[in-house]
Parts: sequence; C-alpha cells; structure tokens
Amino acid sequence: MTTHLLEAAGLSKTYPLPGGGSHQAATDVTFAVPPGGALGIVGESGSGKTTVARMLVGLVRPDHGTITVAGRARSPRPPRGRSARLARAREIQMVFQDPYVSLDPRLTATQCLRTALRLHDRGEANAAELLDRVGLGPREADARPRDLSGGQRQRLAIARALAVDPRILVLDEAVAALDVSIQAQILQLLTEIREETGVALVFVSHDLAVVRHVTEEVLVMRRGKVVERGPTSRVLSSPQDPYTRLLLASVPTEGWDPTTAARARESLNPTNPT
Ligand code: ADP
Ligand code: MG
Repeated sequence: MTTHLLEAAGLSKTYPLPGGGSHQAATDVTFAVPPGGALGIVGESGSGKTTVARMLVGLVRPDHGTITVAGRARSPRPPRGRSARLARAREIQMVFQDPYVSLDPRLTATQCLRTALRLHDRGEANAAELLDRVGLGPREADARPRDLSGGQRQRLAIARALAVDPRILVLDEAVAALDVSIQAQILQLLTEIREETGVALVFVSHDLAVVRHVTEEVLVMRRGKVVERGPTSRVLSSPQDPYTRLLLASVPTEGWDPTTAARARESLNPTNPT
C-alpha cells in the first residue's frame, strides 16, 4: 500500500530536433506527493520543468516511466468514453502561465465556471462559490478575460481548475507573469485553497523565492535531470548541489552580489553556459 497520492516514476522524454538528432528534455524523473502535499519543481529555463508538468497532465506522452494517482496508473492517452475522460480530468488539473491562452475570451467569469461545472455534472450554482473562493467579486463575475487584470485572470483560471474538484493541481509558472505584490496574493490564495480543499499542488517555477512560500518539498532540475531534492526549507537554506547554490545565488535578495552569482556560474559551467 502506498500513502502517496501522486507518484511519478522514471519519467523520460526525448524531442526530435528540427535539424536531426534529438534532445532529452527529461531523464528518469521520479517523485511522489502525499495527499494534500505541495511539491515544487525548480530550475532554469530549459531544464525540463514544463515537459514534466505536461507529462503529468497527459499533454506530453512520456517515452518511459509511469504516473500513478492514488495507486492507479494513468494511461498515457486520454481514455475512451465520457465518464472515463471526466474521471481522469478530476485527478489532475493544470494552471498555465498565461490564462489568456486557456480562457475563452467570449465567456464571462461566471459563464466560464458554469461551463466547466456543467461538463462535470456539478451544479452551476457552485459558480458563485468558486468565484468567492478565489476572491473574485460580483463585478468580475460578469467580466470577460480582457476586462480582468492579470491577477484576476489567474484567479479565474484557478477557479476553473477547481471546478472539477481535482485531487491535484499542477501550476506551471502560474505567477511568473504577475507583479510581485500580485504574486504574493495568488500564493496566499493557493495556500488557503490547499487548507480548505485538501488539493495537492505541483508548483513549477524558475523562481525559488516563489516556491518557498507554497511547497514543503522541492525538486531541482538541471538539463532534464533531478540534481537535488528535499524539504524546501532545507534545500533553500543549505543546498547540497552546486547548481542549486547557483540558482540561489542568482536570486536578488538583500545583500545580493552579482559578482558572486556570476562567479558561481563560471565555476559550475566554465565553457558552456546555458
Ligand atoms: P522549462 O519549462 O524548464 O523551461 P521545457 O520542458 O519547456 O523546460 O524544455 C526543456 C527542453 O526541451 C528545452 O531545451 C526545450 O527547447 C525542449 N523542448 C520543449 N518542448 C519541446 C518540443 N515540443 N519540441 C522540441 N523541443 C522541446
Ligand atoms: Mg517552462
């Protein structure tokens, strides 16, 4: 028996390169998330985070490896039949960096949520409750995506993901496009939602400072591989891997020294900067 809600074992993905050859975007990525837990996946741009996130939700098919939710293997393809597809969607929902891409521009916030609720045979009346849960008021309820601020749009995208009452929410750079003060509000919202609903989070970000606020465990990825893992506080306070140290040195905090950050990068990777 497992106590884990989500288990990813040995996930690998290779993309063909346009000029021939191939690029291994993820290599043997393994992790587990307990029910209601929160895992961060961090690493620089190009380290394979999005590839892993998309494998989890089924948008990218792994070459190798398995994904298990509550002890049941997720099939690499969406299953046939409406109820099986809906059941799969209720396991894992995803929130993207840019909600513009995933929100229908024609629908008001309320219509958007009603559509998602109807699809999953949940009462449309829950739309008001969802809006309330993500902190959107009556004015935003009747607004379309273009009339919402970036933070409000991301709140709506989160509400729509929650509409199916998922067990796991995968967020890929979900606050990366937002101002720091708005980021903080969304991170606080995610923490509240976790407490209220028990949903588990997989929080993907290039930004260690962001991961610190929402996750207990963290994976550090570099060039498709996990180079370090552990409790978020431990990894951030005493990183073991040189790459994690480099990432931390690159975060501008109080007393941050760009020269130290540059030197750390040189010593890690003298000839081939990524
Ligand atoms: P991250 O999210 O950490 O920035 P990605 O998973 O998006 O990393 O990308 C990892 C690597 O895989 C990058 O080198 C990227 O160029 C490559 N890659 C990602 N998606 C594709 C794709 N659909 N086709 C080819 N290469 C891809
Ligand atoms: Mg990415």
